[in-house]
Amino acid sequence: MLCELVSLCDNGPFGLVQIWLAVTSSAFITIMLSSGIVFYWLYWLSNVTYEKWIYKSNPNFPSVEKVRDEIVTMIKGLCCSAMLPSVSIHLMGTPYSQGFCGWGGYSVSYHVFSIIAVWVFSDFYEFMYHRLGHISFPFWKHHKHHHVFFNPSPFAVIADEWIDQFMRSLPVLALPLMMPVNLDALFITYTICFYLFGVYLHSGYEVEFLSAHNKYINTSFQHYCHHAKSLMNKPYHCGFFVKLWDNMFDCVYPEDKCFCAECSRKKGERTRELYEKVYVPDYSLLFDSRVWFGKSI
Ligand SMILES: [Zn+2]
Ligand SMILES: [Zn+2]
Ligand SMILES: [Zn+2]
Repeated sequence: MLCELVSLCDNGPFGLVQIWLAVTSSAFITIMLSSGIVFYWLYWLSNVTYEKWIYKSNPNFPSVEKVRDEIVTMIKGLCCSAMLPSVSIHLMGTPYSQGFCGWGGYSVSYHVFSIIAVWVFSDFYEFMYHRLGHISFPFWKHHKHHHVFFNPSPFAVIADEWIDQFMRSLPVLALPLMMPVNLDALFITYTICFYLFGVYLHSGYEVEFLSAHNKYINTSFQHYCHHAKSLMNKPYHCGFFVKLWDNMFDCVYPEDKCFCAECSRKKGERTRELYEKVYVPDYSLLFDSRVWFGKSI
């Protein structure tokens, strides 16, 4: 897949620009499709139901303007997050990179090992970088823009300042410089484990088969709690996939203060009467150009 892309591009510096355009546009399509479908399913006025709402971590819905700001910030973040992966593709086949296409002469077990190593290293790296954004003021100055979205929607996954997106995509360039890895597998791992799982984390809805109180895997509640409660010097639930890093570095929100949908249901806070009072904005206004140009509707 990526080898075919490289063969279609120039060898010179314009080849890098062509790769960046291809990576940015294909990532844009992936993002709009995956986040868009989940958003339509869970937030669109005609699709919001009481049966779904009882699983919503925050009983209220974000305003149309907040979702618009998520999309604008996401597109800005996307342009930066595509830069280092594009350099990584551009370097494939040069003495600097050990990235390759196909089997590359390696066994199946090496391919399995390399993808697990990529995933574990990246999950830890993303946790450490994210935590840094909450314990160091120069990093918080950039990261706080992600926390403007205290009640996020599926469009908030990469709604970050450019420097944060640049740093978060660094492993896609650094890993093939350090170890032999199939670049297609690396990109697919990042898309599934860090974007599509991120859509779930930012969906605002919990799922019945994975309790927020499970011991091992971060759920959408942990990330909603992160957006709602985590500030400078309060690094609650900075982890992405596994809970291990948050447990190791003491980044866990007090369990006795839990406000997940499961606990809210037990406290009687998800009744049909309360649902009838919830205001669901008409997100079809996102198709109105006045929303995007700051004019009153
Ligand atoms: Zn954060
Ligand atoms: Zn987030
Ligand atoms: Zn709970």
